[in-house]
Amino acid sequence: MTQSYENDELVFLDEDTNNTLPVKNYQYWNILVVDDDEEIHTVTRLALADLIVNDRKLNFLHAYTAEQAKDVLNEYGSQIAIILLDVVMETDNAGLNLVKFLRESLSLQEPRIVLRTGQPGYAPEETIIKDYDINDYKTKTELTRSKLVTTVIASLRSYQQILTINQSRVGLQKIIDSASNLLEEHSVKSFCEGVVTQLSSLIGLDEEGLVCAKAGSMLDKDSEEIFVIGAAGNFARLINQPVSQLNNPGISENIERCLRYKRHIFEDGTSVLYLHRAGFEAAVYVNMEKELNEIDRQLLEVFLSSISVGYENVHLFHQLRNAAFRDWLTRLPNRNELINVLDQHRPEHQGASAALIDISHFSDINDGLGQETGNSVLQAVASRLESMTTDRVIKARIGGDVFALVGPPDEVNPENINRIFQSSVQALDHSIPLNVTIGMSEIQDDCFHGLEVLKRTNIALNRAKRHHTENFAFYAPEIEESTTTQLGMIRKLRSDFADTKLQLWFQPQIDLRSGRVAGLEGLLRWPDGKGGYIPPSEFIPLAEYSGLIVDIGRWVLEEACRRISQLRENGYEQLRVAVNISIPQFRDRYFVEKVKTALDRYNCPSGSLELEITESVVMDEPQIVIDALAALKAHGVAIAIDDFGTGFSSMSYLQRLPLDRLKVDRSFVNDIVPGKNAVIAETIVSLGNKLGLVTIAEGVETQEQARYMTELGCDEAQGYLYARPMPFDDLMQFLSGRQG
Ligand code: C2E
Ligand code: CA
Ligand code: CA
Repeated sequence: MTQSYENDELVFLDEDTNNTLPVKNYQYWNILVVDDDEEIHTVTRLALADLIVNDRKLNFLHAYTAEQAKDVLNEYGSQIAIILLDVVMETDNAGLNLVKFLRESLSLQEPRIVLRTGQPGYAPEETIIKDYDINDYKTKTELTRSKLVTTVIASLRSYQQILTINQSRVGLQKIIDSASNLLEEHSVKSFCEGVVTQLSSLIGLDEEGLVCAKAGSMLDKDSEEIFVIGAAGNFARLINQPVSQLNNPGISENIERCLRYKRHIFEDGTSVLYLHRAGFEAAVYVNMEKELNEIDRQLLEVFLSSISVGYENVHLFHQLRNAAFRDWLTRLPNRNELINVLDQHRPEHQGASAALIDISHFSDINDGLGQETGNSVLQAVASRLESMTTDRVIKARIGGDVFALVGPPDEVNPENINRIFQSSVQALDHSIPLNVTIGMSEIQDDCFHGLEVLKRTNIALNRAKRHHTENFAFYAPEIEESTTTQLGMIRKLRSDFADTKLQLWFQPQIDLRSGRVAGLEGLLRWPDGKGGYIPPSEFIPLAEYSGLIVDIGRWVLEEACRRISQLRENGYEQLRVAVNISIPQFRDRYFVEKVKTALDRYNCPSGSLELEITESVVMDEPQIVIDALAALKAHGVAIAIDDFGTGFSSMSYLQRLPLDRLKVDRSFVNDIVPGKNAVIAETIVSLGNKLGLVTIAEGVETQEQARYMTELGCDEAQGYLYARPMPFDDLMQFLSGRQG
């Protein structure tokens, strides 16, 4: 076969990427001629003198002995494209030794080797050709000009391919790096932007791309329209807009096609990538003039599959986040969401009325007619609020039996609200008359913060509950006198703590598979002196606010360790004890030391103590908390994240925390009702499993809930179904009863 280079059809891969090649002199292909015969050098040069391949000339390097060749190789390394090598020089196998030196000692894999020998029939063994990656073997007489040209062109082609493969190895490294960068992102939007940016850098494009998702699959919109969920470059302004807004039918049609046929589309100048994982799917359009080559295409596929795991996590997070802002039972916004909406400083809120509506004696309905009826009542209340107010009114459920309305005073007022509850509601088989108590406040300039609005309205609600004549009250600044009551309480707490009147009670945690007690949670109790207890939900915030929690918390740690050693003396070596830690404790720079001291003092193994922290504690001062926990974890102490799913932290913090256990918040366990899916509980358990954490369900009150959580793969449970928190002596009885 003869082939002339003038009409060579070689298509070299990617001319633009040449500047990334490690070639010293870009205009040339370096060809090293190694031969002890001067004549061969001259002939080779003449034959190839005016050869230009892919716009580059050849640059000849000459060596007459293997030793000289080694020097050239040392200097030029992988910039040598081809070595035309004489087999027999100083010695019979000087050439082959040089090959060995090149591939083994210098470990240069890129240069191509063409062996030449004067003696026909002196071919090297096949294994040598293979092992040392030799391109061609020719006798010198065979090397006519045209054959030499063909050989050189073919060898240059494979040299170029090898360089490209190395380059994609660099690309793969980029993929691995970018996948871990993307894990840091915790919103779908920034994740999508990240994807577009990383993709662009991967294949060397401008950041002109779109990420799109099918609506409904993740945007919680009802329509099937396709929306832009992340973008960079020119398209960034279209985030959250339908793709039809692009005014570019070419792009939107291709995106639509990609999602419909669920596959990548690579067509003249159009690349739309199909991304899917666990029920979530997206199309990624990448703007490019040139066509993608095979290697870029493969890179993209690898990239997509490596980021899809990250995508799945972000998607789970997104679902959880949604859940964190909506009440699952009534589908109304929850307390968090209401606060957010109020925080947005909208002009229409100015002068608006806020109302909190508390259903009186709701617990009687729950206890008397069952929780299902109770839930049904709450749903009926929600739909009545929806149907009897206009769109101008924001409705929310902010607590168990407390609803909120915010809107114009002509709609949101006690008369109107009482009218809404005039007739009975229908709940399952019951028609139930409801009484409500209403707290009212007006949203003023000085009070735009959602929390403040709620606080004021709540003060009014509490006041309304003490009224005998009317069922409502308006907020007035005078009634904030309650702060004085709070000061009195702090004073009393301080003196009772000093008099060692606080107690640490314990609630068992059960291993769902074996049914055995696996651990205990220590919970503070403050006797009110009249035979009852002031609930921790009332005094812990005061203790935190006053700083008293630092000393109380230290006592809790000591007390927990003292009890651990008592438990161990009684044969319960396996039980771990968890204690709750508040943020002021972390701000105490001796905190880590204090924990270690408590453990030492009572001779407790570090693994028997667990610290529970809530997400809000982490978000408050991430670095301080992460550092302290890392130090304690290194010491052997276990860490649990408490009330998980209620406040919302970011994926990256969660991954940076040295966690052992994830506690599914009571409210999600409470959502479990027969015959329905408890989506959030499920999402949390699966997130926990993916992060490799033990999961524990809080507030398990019914067999049904325990069964459901077990089926989801939850490991442990804690709740009234098994035992209420109890004093230590009762606990010892409880434990011996269970063992016997
Ligand atoms: P938490 O850490 O979420 O503790 C669990 C709470 O749920 C406890 O309330 C417990 O009595 C209650 N509980 C357990 N099982 C069930 C159940 O099946 N149904 C229902 N409805 N409730 C259940 P408690 O003891 O009133 O504590 C309230 C909160 O006070 C705790 O919530 C924790 O945040 C805080 N707290 C308690 N002790 C301490 C402490 O020593 N230090 C700090 N910093 N906070 C504490
Ligand atoms: Ca806890
Ligand atoms: Ca909890």
